[in-house]
Amino acid sequence: MARVVQVRAAAVPLHAPGRNAAVDFAGLSGCLVAVVSDERRGGRAVTGFGLGAIGRLAHLDAIRQRLAPRLVERPEALDPARARDLLTANEKPGAHAERSAAVAAIEIAAWDRAAKLAEVPAYTLVANRLGLPAPSPAVSVYAAGGYYGGTAPLADEVRSYLEAGYEHVKIKVGGASLAEDLRRVEAVLALLGGDGGRLAVDANGRLDPHASVAYAEALRPYGLRWFEEPGDPLDYGLQAELARRVDVPFATGESVCSRQELRNLVRYAGLDPARDFLQMDPGLAYGAAELAAMVADLRELGWAPERVLPHGGTLVGLHLAAALALGGCEAYPGAFSPFGGFGPRARVERGALTIPEAPGFGFEEKPELRPFLARLAPESA
Ligand code: MG
Repeated sequence: MARVVQVRAAAVPLHAPGRNAAVDFAGLSGCLVAVVSDERRGGRAVTGFGLGAIGRLAHLDAIRQRLAPRLVERPEALDPARARDLLTANEKPGAHAERSAAVAAIEIAAWDRAAKLAEVPAYTLVANRLGLPAPSPAVSVYAAGGYYGGTAPLADEVRSYLEAGYEHVKIKVGGASLAEDLRRVEAVLALLGGDGGRLAVDANGRLDPHASVAYAEALRPYGLRWFEEPGDPLDYGLQAELARRVDVPFATGESVCSRQELRNLVRYAGLDPARDFLQMDPGLAYGAAELAAMVADLRELGWAPERVLPHGGTLVGLHLAAALALGGCEAYPGAFSPFGGFGPRARVERGALTIPEAPGFGFEEKPELRPFLARLAPESA
């Protein structure tokens, strides 16, 4: 019977785009995982790859020492749902962040391996296995950028996204003065025909309560698509107070590590399912099955899947947005290579991307990622 032979992990250096209001990305790495099985196709081992969330450091020790031994030599670990159960068995409730990203990278690799074996894209397999309707390969995407200290002037950067087919963009705020940030917003709006609905801004949780209110009030007249993470993402009281005081669409949730945390966020942060957006990152929060469970929980709490747009800008979020019929997905056209971006065959037209046919998540479609895949799992190359 086929079995998992090894689970390997490596830290991959990511191209830093500059800084946001909270973090300078210099020296950032991402977590790459390989689940190697003893099945072979075309003379090569069938290997699943998984990526951790961009913006969080690789959890190599947790993967190698704590989680990998739970799967190795276990035939049932080849099933993604069973792999998730094995990885989290006997774990104490709560404190999800100490393992949720490490589990996510492995769980995603298990889906990638299973989809490759079935010779279907990951979004098809995830939807089939979870009993969801047949998914569309077209995903609405928005270009996230506008970092401080980027290599190109902001207007040139945004122009390049529009030329690439994007219609919606997101830029950083909160890392300069309010007056300077408003000038940045207006410069980008001038390129978007003045349509605030095509521009979102992200303060990366940097603003204190006073500045959060000042920013929200100053941004309100522009009618922006959303104002993301104004204050600390765990300060649900601040978010609720802000939502009471200023009527702008908010977006948050990229730091949520589990469905329990999402339930708390939705219950206590004053968010409005008719106005606001949620951005859970599957690479941070246990992977594909957890995101599907979150979307099901959200339905019960009055939130449509269209209000969810996963953070991250990787092929993982893209495929899961398709599988779960979410409102779209973040894209990093110019940042965080080799994890960011969807590969040269993934063209954006009028703001939507049709996922190219490739087995699994299509990581092998990204030329800049291929050397790292080959180094981690030479037997699959
Ligand atoms: Mg963000």
